[in-house]
Amino acid sequence: MSAPTLPPRFEPREIEARWQKEWDERAIARGPDRPKGPTYSLVLPPPNVTGVLTIGHMLGDTVMDLLVRHHRMRGDATVWVPGLDHAGLATQVEVRRRLQKQGVRFVELSREQALHEIELWKQEHEKRIHEQTRAAGFSVDWSRYRYTMDPESVRATREVFVRLHREGLVYRGERMVNWDPHLRTAVSDLEVSHTEEEASLVYLRYPWADGTAGGLEVATVRPETIFGDVAVAVHPEDERYRSLVGKEVMVPLTDRKVPIISDEAIDPAFGAGALKVTPRHDLVDYGVYERHPGLPMPPDILDDSGRLTGAWVPTEYRGLDRDDARTKVTEDLDRAGLLLRRQPYRHSVARSERSNAVIEPRLSTQWFVRMKPLATPAVDAVRRGEIRIHPSRWERTFFRWMDEIQDWCISRQVLWGHAVPVVHCQVCHREILTVEAPTVCDRCGASDLRPDPDVLDTWFTSWLWPFLALGWPERTPDLDHYYPTNVLVTGRDIMFFWVARMMMAGYYFRNARPFSDVYFTGMIRDEQGRRMSKHLGNSPEPLDLIRERGADALRFALVFPNPTDEDGSFGSAALDASRNFLTKVWNLVRFSLSFVPPGARPPAGPPAVSSSSALENRWILSRYRHAVEEVDRAIAEFRFTPAAAALYDFLWHDLADRYVEIAKEALQGRRGEPAQREASATLLFVVERSLRLLHPIVPHVTEELWHALPHPDTLLATASWPSADEAPSDPAAELEMEPLLETVRLLRNLRAEEKVPVTAIPKAWVRPSGSEVARVLAAERGTVERLARVSSLQILGERDEVPAGTGRRVAAFGECFLERPVASGATAEALLKEREKLFGLLEKTRARLADPGFRGRAPPEVVREAEAKAAELAERVRRIDEHLKQDGASTAAP
Ligand SMILES: [Zn+2]
Repeated sequence: MSAPTLPPRFEPREIEARWQKEWDERAIARGPDRPKGPTYSLVLPPPNVTGVLTIGHMLGDTVMDLLVRHHRMRGDATVWVPGLDHAGLATQVEVRRRLQKQGVRFVELSREQALHEIELWKQEHEKRIHEQTRAAGFSVDWSRYRYTMDPESVRATREVFVRLHREGLVYRGERMVNWDPHLRTAVSDLEVSHTEEEASLVYLRYPWADGTAGGLEVATVRPETIFGDVAVAVHPEDERYRSLVGKEVMVPLTDRKVPIISDEAIDPAFGAGALKVTPRHDLVDYGVYERHPGLPMPPDILDDSGRLTGAWVPTEYRGLDRDDARTKVTEDLDRAGLLLRRQPYRHSVARSERSNAVIEPRLSTQWFVRMKPLATPAVDAVRRGEIRIHPSRWERTFFRWMDEIQDWCISRQVLWGHAVPVVHCQVCHREILTVEAPTVCDRCGASDLRPDPDVLDTWFTSWLWPFLALGWPERTPDLDHYYPTNVLVTGRDIMFFWVARMMMAGYYFRNARPFSDVYFTGMIRDEQGRRMSKHLGNSPEPLDLIRERGADALRFALVFPNPTDEDGSFGSAALDASRNFLTKVWNLVRFSLSFVPPGARPPAGPPAVSSSSALENRWILSRYRHAVEEVDRAIAEFRFTPAAAALYDFLWHDLADRYVEIAKEALQGRRGEPAQREASATLLFVVERSLRLLHPIVPHVTEELWHALPHPDTLLATASWPSADEAPSDPAAELEMEPLLETVRLLRNLRAEEKVPVTAIPKAWVRPSGSEVARVLAAERGTVERLARVSSLQILGERDEVPAGTGRRVAAFGECFLERPVASGATAEALLKEREKLFGLLEKTRARLADPGFRGRAPPEVVREAEAKAAELAERVRRIDEHLKQDGASTAAP
């Protein structure tokens, strides 16, 4: 590709499309099949096909691309495996919702029609996700693309089920599950949310079974479940009821007798202290049932859609929905004189995150994974540091959950997902579990076999992802070369759904960790601090942002200025700042281009500098070296924002604002040819290397600028990562430069404070604190005069008189004085106005700091920033007061 010329304006759109195509054609992201030397691999958390990529995905993907590009430039054999998750139940819910809008009922479709609709959905969303991934410039290895429902995944999932079953870790059992009556399936604990809701606590009377008047008072929020009662229980130490244990009561509205029993689990403070026991529909009650072997297990009283059913339910209630049944039962109790009273009651209600239906705890026969034995190696690995969690504050949450881990219900009563690999012989009723579905029964030889109707939880496939994506269970070369992977980048919201389970699967099936590091990104909020959601409509479509602002601006805005591992806000301000920075870099490179001799290539290394070289050249090379060190360190420690901040500060402030300004005369040849040569070689070297450092975050614009330097034949994407050692560290140069830069800064501030007109070129004085500073300032006097726009800089000795009519500032290296414009009434008035403005700001900042809510909630750096701002404002107000006092005006002190 020939070197493009740089237009004056930075227009990302055309640039980004061009380089994406070029990278594709040159297959930069294609990991080698037979890598030599060190490898670096990671799997992309496969996005759910339920939707398209959100800004949250973009954050994680940007972090991954940054790591991948960084390691590719370091020369590692790099593989980043992309994929897609079929997202079982969640996808089915979305498809069902879409069909409903078109007036089609999902349940009325045939199996084939339903699967066809899901496939259409998958294809549409997969296409959009790929488009988004490409538009953002993420360098995934498309040749290794995987889908959690592809034939290899089907095989792997079946194999895992069969193997865990054989080894006693998958079992079928009747257990209490979270039943979603709306979707008619079990859902996992992690798919249930708990909210405080208003309900009505009903007090009713269970009549004595021996016919004596009265009865036992029982409170419940679910009177419709009385038909499933097998007992009424009280606490063994509850004096009120001790003598009643062993007696019998009638279940209201039925002719069934149940015993009064005692159990430790009963809370005597709840209701009247006596509780009905419904083992099939409540976890606590099920526990009571298990501790009292004499109690019967009733038949189901609710069907899978939450309607009353079964022999124990009186006919007039059968078929009623649980809500209607509650109303009717309450009315009938009232009519029978058994309803004592009702009181409002606030309690925690479990709802399905998939349908929002109230969860029905239900005793149901499902498949489970025994988790405790699998969890132990994962916990040990994190404890030993074999797997590191970043930021480490999430380790505690990880350990807490792992300690309390429950068995995992993996079967789902939905259509979309991997079939449970079980068939039932219809002749001898044998249950056959095999990886390959059999055609005849291995016991009786019958061919009338029926597959199990259930499917598996989607995470039962994705927990295998790090090795599944590399070809497992086949023994592929990729598995040998690229497993274990290096890092997993994801949101902490799926720490348990996915991350912890991948660790368990990795140790169990591969006998090795799936990754050495886990990095949790923050959750992105909008500029008002709200979580982004489809519902609020505050979540922008990444493709729109990329079209408007460019992928690079989006990427940089995600990494900077908010820490990527904290919940930060994202919006147009961040995008503007990021776009401004990229424009600054664009302009810097355009400026540098004028110093490239015709036909020349950028310097291969830094110019040889010595102690006699220009101070600014020695200084910028040393600063550059620090920037490389800081970026290397930050990336190695998974601190991506400090890496971006180091580059931002170096390029914007040190290189563009300071170095270029100071070296301008030399660059323009006004200090002679050798000085010109050294300055332009320094500038071009630092610019070229800075583009390499910036490339992993903003790949397109850096690739474009790098080619303009020119690099006609090679790609920046595959160029080598710079080594800090190339540039000399020069503490002496940095030390010398300090007073020079400080003097310029102070004189510029004084100019603003003293309201020196823009056109004026006042005189300036400096009284250095020592002879070394004096020497440097004397040597660089011309530079200071030029940058601070003063007519002369005079260096004062210790005993020299301070000139009258000057503004003054003090710093560590000495004092600065600036000639003050002749004071006039107008100036005093302007100063008073300025003071009023500053004082207002100061009061506001102080009030904010005094608010304990602010100090409690805001991140520490924001508090520090506010403190620094208050100090600065107070100082500026003080200075104006001092000034006004000299001029004879009076003010109140702040
Ligand atoms: Zn059989």
